[in-house]
Amino acid sequence: MRLSQFHLRTTKETPADAELVSHQLMLRAGMIRKLAAGLYTWSPLGLRVLRKVETVVREEMDRAGAIEMIMPTIQPRELWEETGRWEKFGGQLLKITDRKEQHFCYSPTAEEAVTDFARQELSSYKQLPVNFYQIQTKFRDEIRPRFGVMRAREFVMKDAYSFHITDEDLVREYRNMHAAYTRIFTRLGLDFRAVQADSGAIGGDASQEFHVLADSGEDAIAFSTGSDYAANVETAQAAAPGPRAAASETMTKVATPTQKTCEDVAALLGIPLQRTVKSVAVMTDGGFVLALVRGDHAVNEIKLGKVAGMADYRLATEAEILAHLGSEPGFLGPIGAKQAIRVVADRDVAAMADFVVGANEAGFHLAGVNWGRDLPEPETVADIRNVVVGDRAADGGEIRIVRGIEVGHVFQLGRKYSEAMKFTVLDETGKAATPAMGCYGIGVSRIVAAAIEQNHDANGIIWPAPMAPWAVAVCVINPKNDAAVNNAAEALLEELQVAGIEAVLDDRGLRPGAMFADIELIGIPHRVVVSERGLAAGTFEYRARRATEAENIGRDELLARLRG
Ligand code: ATP
Ligand code: MG
Repeated sequence: MRLSQFHLRTTKETPADAELVSHQLMLRAGMIRKLAAGLYTWSPLGLRVLRKVETVVREEMDRAGAIEMIMPTIQPRELWEETGRWEKFGGQLLKITDRKEQHFCYSPTAEEAVTDFARQELSSYKQLPVNFYQIQTKFRDEIRPRFGVMRAREFVMKDAYSFHITDEDLVREYRNMHAAYTRIFTRLGLDFRAVQADSGAIGGDASQEFHVLADSGEDAIAFSTGSDYAANVETAQAAAPGPRAAASETMTKVATPTQKTCEDVAALLGIPLQRTVKSVAVMTDGGFVLALVRGDHAVNEIKLGKVAGMADYRLATEAEILAHLGSEPGFLGPIGAKQAIRVVADRDVAAMADFVVGANEAGFHLAGVNWGRDLPEPETVADIRNVVVGDRAADGGEIRIVRGIEVGHVFQLGRKYSEAMKFTVLDETGKAATPAMGCYGIGVSRIVAAAIEQNHDANGIIWPAPMAPWAVAVCVINPKNDAAVNNAAEALLEELQVAGIEAVLDDRGLRPGAMFADIELIGIPHRVVVSERGLAAGTFEYRARRATEAENIGRDELLARLRG
C-alpha cells in the first residue's frame, strides 16, 4: 500500500467538541467523520482498524464453535410485539414506517430475529446446541450520544445467541463464551476485567460484563485484591462487619446549632466520621422509612430498592419528614419519631456502638447511642450501601475501585424469548421442549475507541499490534528524487510483503517532521526511514512507536525486529 494513493487526512488541532482523548485522536487521525449526532462515517483508515478488530472477534468465535450468519437490521413490529419489547424497549428503539404503513424498527439487538430463525430451522434436540453469531450494525437512539463511536447511535456489534436443551448445557456454553471473550480481549492487547453484572438463579453468574480499564470509563468497578472478584459498584458487596462492641457511653444530647452533615457534626465533636450515622428519609407504598448508613458511607439505590417492601421507594418530602419525625432535615434520626416509622439499617450501622444520630430537633444530635438500650434493635438489617476503597472483601482481600468501558457482555437468558415466541424442539423422548438461550455481545466499534483510551501519548495513538492499520510505515526521505532511494524503498516494501509483514509506503513526499508526526498520530507500531544517507551506510533508521530514540540498523536486524 502507498500512502500517496490512499486517503489520509490528519489535523493538528484538537477538535473543540471532543472531550475524550480517543474521540479527539480518531478525529485528528481522520479515522471517523461525523454525519449527524451519533452517526459516523468510518474513513478508509478507520475501517482498516475496525476490520482488524472484527477479524480477531470472528476468528475466536469460529474457534469457539459459534457459526456466523447475518440478519436484517430492519425488523417487523409483529416480531417485537411477540416478546412485548415493541413497547418495553423504550425510546432507544427507532421505529420506522414503510410506504404501506407497515411498522418496523431498526435492530438494537436481535433476540427476536434469531429466535424466529431458530423456530423455522430447528425442530429436534439433535440440532442443539447451536450458537449463531453475526457482526452487524445496530441502532440505539441513545439519549446522549457522545464520545464519538464510544457511545454512538449506529454502531457495530458482534451478537451471538445460543440454544440448549438443558440449563447445564447453557452454563457450559456461557463458560465457553467467557473463555472466548477472554482470548479476544487478550489477543487485542487490552487491559480488561470480567465483571459480575448480576447473579442469577441458573448456574451462578447469570451475566458478566467485560470492561476495558480506563480512567475515562463511564462505569465504576470494584475489585478485590484477594481473588478475581470484580463487580459493578452498583452491585459490589463488601464482607459483613464483625460483631458489635459493647456500649461504653451514656446517651447525651449535644448542641449542633449549624452542623447538618455528618462531617460537620464529627468535626464539632472531635470524633471520627465512622462514629456517625446518616439518616435518609424515604417513602414507600407501605409508609415512611428511615434508611441508616454510616456517616462515611452512601446509600446504594439499587440495593435499597431490593430490600423487601422498598421496590418503589422515593425520597421523602420535607413535609413528610416533618410529619413523621417532627424535624427539618439535617437533624434526623431513628429516636423520638412522632409516628411509628420503619428503620432499615445497613449491616455496618447495625454493628455500631456509641454512635451519633440526629435528635429530630433542629440544632441537636444524640451522641453515645446504643442499639437495644436507647432504641430498639433495627427491624431490617441489610447491605444498602456502596462499597468504598479499603473495604474488606468477602474473600479477605481489600476492595479497590477502578473505572471501565463496557466492551462485552455475556448473558444467560434462560427461556424468556423462546417461551414468548413459542419456540420448541422435540427432545429425546419425543416431547416438545422449550430451549434455553444465552446471548453474547461485543461492542466491535467501541473497542477501537477503548483501545485508544488505553494506548496513546502526546503524539497520538499507539495501536496494540493486532489492531494497527499497518504494522510498519516505510518513510521515504528523498528530496532529490534519487532513483536509487526510491528503488530501495520499493524493494524493502516487497521484502516485507513476502515476509508477511503488513507495510505501508509513505511516498507522499512530505518533509520528515510532518511525515513522522502523521505516522505517530495514526499509531503505526514500527517506522523505518529509507534515505540517501542510510543507503550509503547500508542501514535503515528504525523506531518503534513507544521508543524514545531512532536507531540505525542493518537489513537482517531490521527484519528480525519487525518479525518480533
Ligand atoms: P451500555 O451499558 O454501555 O449502554 P449495554 O449494556 O446497553 O451498553 P449491550 O446490550 O450489553 O449494551 O450490548 C453489547 C455491547 O455493545 C456492549 O457491551 C457495548 O460494548 C456495545 N454498545 C452498546 N451500546 C453502544 C453504543 N451506544 N455505542 C457503541 N457501542 C455500544
Ligand atoms: Mg451490557
